Order: sequence, then C-alpha cells, then structure tokens
Amino acid sequence: MAPIAKHYDYLVIGGGSGGLASGRRAAAMYGKKVGIIESGRLGGTCVNVGCVPKKVMWNAATMAETLAESHDYCFDTEVKGFDWPRFKAKRDAYIKRLNGIYERNLGNDGVDYIRGRGHFLSQNEVEVTDESGAKTVYGADKILIATGGYPVIPKNVPGAEYGVTSDGFFELEQQPKKVVLVGAGYIAVELAGIFQALSSETHLMIRGDTFLRQFDPMIQEVMTKHYEEGMGMNIHRRSKQTKVEKDEATGKLTIHYEDINGPAVLKDVDTLIWAIGRAPETGDLMLDRPGIETTEKGHVIADEFQNTNVPNIYSIGDVSGKLELTPVAIAAGRRLADRLFGGPKFATAKLDYDNVPSVVFAHPEIGTIGLNEPEARKKFGDANIKVYKTSFTAMYYAMLEHKGPTSYKLICEGENERVVGLHIIGLGSAEMLQGFGVAVKMGATKADFDSCVAIHPTSAEELVTLR
Ligand code: FAD
Ligand code: NDP
Repeated sequence: MAPIAKHYDYLVIGGGSGGLASGRRAAAMYGKKVGIIESGRLGGTCVNVGCVPKKVMWNAATMAETLAESHDYCFDTEVKGFDWPRFKAKRDAYIKRLNGIYERNLGNDGVDYIRGRGHFLSQNEVEVTDESGAKTVYGADKILIATGGYPVIPKNVPGAEYGVTSDGFFELEQQPKKVVLVGAGYIAVELAGIFQALSSETHLMIRGDTFLRQFDPMIQEVMTKHYEEGMGMNIHRRSKQTKVEKDEATGKLTIHYEDINGPAVLKDVDTLIWAIGRAPETGDLMLDRPGIETTEKGHVIADEFQNTNVPNIYSIGDVSGKLELTPVAIAAGRRLADRLFGGPKFATAKLDYDNVPSVVFAHPEIGTIGLNEPEARKKFGDANIKVYKTSFTAMYYAMLEHKGPTSYKLICEGENERVVGLHIIGLGSAEMLQGFGVAVKMGATKADFDSCVAIHPTSAEELVTLR
C-alpha cells in the first residue's frame, strides 16, 4: 500500500454545500489542517446542478410571466421569444465564476483542495484517485462524509435511459417544444413550472391525484389545480410509464403509459425528465472497510450530532438522508466543526432539524414550515388544534385577467395557540417565509402574530390578521 502523503486534522470527502461549509469553518475559525476531496465541480449539487442554476431559470420563467402580464398593466410590449441557448451560456458562465470563487475561498482559508475520487482504506485513511488514475493516500484524525446524492431513473421501465434527470435538464442546449416530467416532488414541480411559463408544451405525470403529497393538503390541492387550470399544464394523474421509445432519425420520444383511462401514448416528445427522487452517493466509498452502517437505501446513518457508528467518522447533508436542503447541509456542517474543534463552549453544538423552513420555487412559490395539518392533528389530537386559513386575490392580480392563487394556513396547538405549522402559496412567498420562520422557531403564538401591526398593502399582512 502507498505511504500516507499527508495527514490532516479533518479530511472531508465531498466539496458540496455541507463539506465546504464544515471544512472551511474548521480551518478558518479553529486553525485546523483540512483537506477537501472533490471529484466533480466545487460547490456540489446546489451550485452546479441544483438551487443556483434552477433559481436563475425560475427568474427567467417568472420574467416570461411578467412580460405576458404586462399588457394588462397597459404596456405595449412585444416579446419575440426566449433565446434559450444564449441564456444557458450566460448561466453556465455565472456558475463557472462561482466555481472559481469557491476555489479561491478554499485557498484563502488555507484548506487543501484535493481533486479526485475518494474511498476509505481504513478508519483513518482515504485513497484518492485523480483524473489521470494516479492514487494518493491521505490520513486524518477525523473524516467527514459529505458526498451528497444523485438523481435516480426507474429500473423497470424499458427505454427509461432515453430520458434525462435534473442533471440533464441543466445540459439542454435547446428549449424542448414538448416536454414530459415524471415525478411529484420539489424538482418535478419546479422544472414543470419553468417549462410551462416559458411556453413549452409541458406534461407532468404523477402517480397520485395531486403532487407534493408530503405537503399540507391545501398546498397539494390549490397548486395541482392551479398548474392544470390556471397555467394550462397537462397533468396526467395516477399514471405509470410502461415503455419509452426513441426515433433515432428525429430523436423524438414516444412515452407509453397507463392511467385511469387505460393504456395511452404520448408522441413527438423532445425531452423526458425523470424527477422521482435522489439516492445517496455511497456506491464506491468502500464504507465496509471501516464498517460504517447505512440504511437500506444507502444513507450513511448519523445520530443527532452527525456521528456515524464508527468513532471519528461523521456524515452530513444529503448522504445522511435528513432534510435534503442546502442550508441544512451547511448548518449541520458548521455545527459539527464547532463541536469537534471549538472547545467546551460548543461541546453540545448540533443542528435542530425541527421547524426548518423550505420553499418550492413553483409558479407562484410555495412556503412551508413545521407540521402539516394531518401531522399536527395526529401529534396533538383534533381537540388541541386550531386552523386558520385564507384564500384571496393578491392586489397584483387586480389588473390582470388571469388570477393566480394566494392561500395561507396557520396551524396552532394548545390553549395558547402556539403556531406549529405555517403554509403559504402566492407571489413573494419565498422572501416572506424567512421572517415568519424566525417567529415559528421562537415559539410564536397566534396572539404574537396578531400583535404585530400589518404592513399595508401586502399579501403577507393577511397572516397577522387571520380570523
Ligand atoms: P452535494 O452538494 O451534492 O455535494 C456532494 C459533493 O460530493 C459533490 O460535489 C460530489 O461530486 C462529491 N462527491 C461524491 N462522492 C465523492 C467521492 N467519493 N469523492 C470525492 N467527491 C465526491 N436545496 C435548497 O435548499 N434550495 C433549493 O432551491 C434547492 N434546489 C435544488 C434543485 C435541484 C435540481 C436539486 C437536485 C437539488 C436542490 N436542492 C435545493 C438540494 C441541495 O442541492 C442539496 O440538498 C445540497 O446540495 C446537499 O449538499 P451536500 O453537501 O450534502 O451534497
Ligand atoms: P422528492 O423525494 O422530493 O420527490 C420525488 C417524488 O416523486 C416522490 O415524492 C414521489 O411522489 C414521486 N415518485 C417516486 N417514485 C416515482 C416513480 N417511480 N414514478 C413516478 N413518481 C415517483 O425528490 P426530488 O427528486 O423532487 O427532490 C429531491 C430532494 O431535493 C427534495 O426532497 C428536496 O429535499 C431537495 N430539493 C429542494 C428544493 C428546494 O428547496 N426548493 C428544490 C429541489 C430539490 P408520489 O409518492 O406522490 O408519487
């Protein structure tokens, strides 16, 4: 076996949201010798094929909606089209700039950027294979697994490989005229909304009657209806794909599927996107060598302090399978570095996974924090739950022929009506939620909400005047 090339205090496998945050904190704040191993592009999923390019696309789609609506605001606008290839090139250039900034930040913090693919040799040794195939062994006192995940495609649908995943979405050089998305979670809903707003013929195939089935029923019902009736998307409920065929001459796809009406076919599809979930990136880590335990799905099991079952090996972010969100990976990574290297003051530092706010960048946005109504009723009992809700037309739509939905729900528990769930749909929900998130996290009650004077005229004011 090759000798150890370098020994670190803290060796991080994966230079994504969580790994970078944890490694940089350990080096910059606590002066530790840190190495971060990354086999792809620095920044991981969020920066390269996730939150950031997605939000740029959402901005473009939102602008398309605003341009279309500008007529009703009496502007004489003429839109000649959306130049997808030019926009993609600009978006890619932005991401490349971010990759550079991430690399410079590592240099500024004195973190070694180790390019290559890492796997365990033992409890405190990791071997890295670089692009040329050269292997280097690194030793470490403590090792963090922050390898994230990857999007899956179905195994049992012949021709499934003709479709792409969210990774492939970001590689599309042309805007598809006709696109099919399969799935009912964040990614399916966000990407379908982008395509529909940019005027692609968009088909969303879901297994149930609504999408976002993990969310509050209000969100499922209002948004599925709005996507179909308000935006004009083709929603295929209770559908199951049976086969995908590709015409090699034209590149067009034919999707065979079944739904409540029996077998059906969708022809002339330019792009099929599978958005049916993600799996942890653990396949080649050789976790069995140190004996690290995983779940059935392969997530690296971590306790509330991000400890794995093996001493001095930790796991955070998507690979640990708890709340797959960038700020969660970052916060867990920083708390972990504080706990490991920050001395007695941080001896019990850990991330609280309760009441984490999150937004689906749909059209309009969806915001959620805390329990949904069925969860709250189950946890506290019907008699202890009071629900306040409202649906109204936001003032922005007053000038428009086509109205979008605005629906809010507050779920309160106990005699003093502590807010245990807040669910919002409507323009500006993403920016609104952060502040309300602070209130919910602090244990605010309905009376606290009511005691805050409304800001008029806004949509958010409805949340502090609910009856
Ligand atoms: P990652 O960011 O995935 O980083 C893991 C890194 O490890 C990768 O760079 C990978 O190349 C590297 N790696 C893996 N194995 C090895 C190995 N053996 N050796 C070396 N390197 C390795 N979250 C939000 O909060 N808001 C959003 O709006 C949002 N939008 C999203 C949109 C999409 C399309 C997707 C797919 C995700 C989105 N997410 C969003 C989720 C978010 O991107 C992830 O939760 C977050 O990136 C997880 O961070 P991580 O550090 O755990 O993993
Ligand atoms: P999700 O797990 O959120 O959703 C996937 C959904 O697809 C399932 O809930 C399921 O819904 C449906 N599904 C599963 N298998 C199949 C199948 N074989 N055929 C049809 N439908 C299927 O995964 P995503 O890939 O959307 O996103 C992964 C994670 O990334 C999210 O959970 C989120 O944490 C994060 N993310 C966050 C974003 C944000 O913060 N804005 C944006 C994007 C991603 P059902 O049971 O109803 O069929």
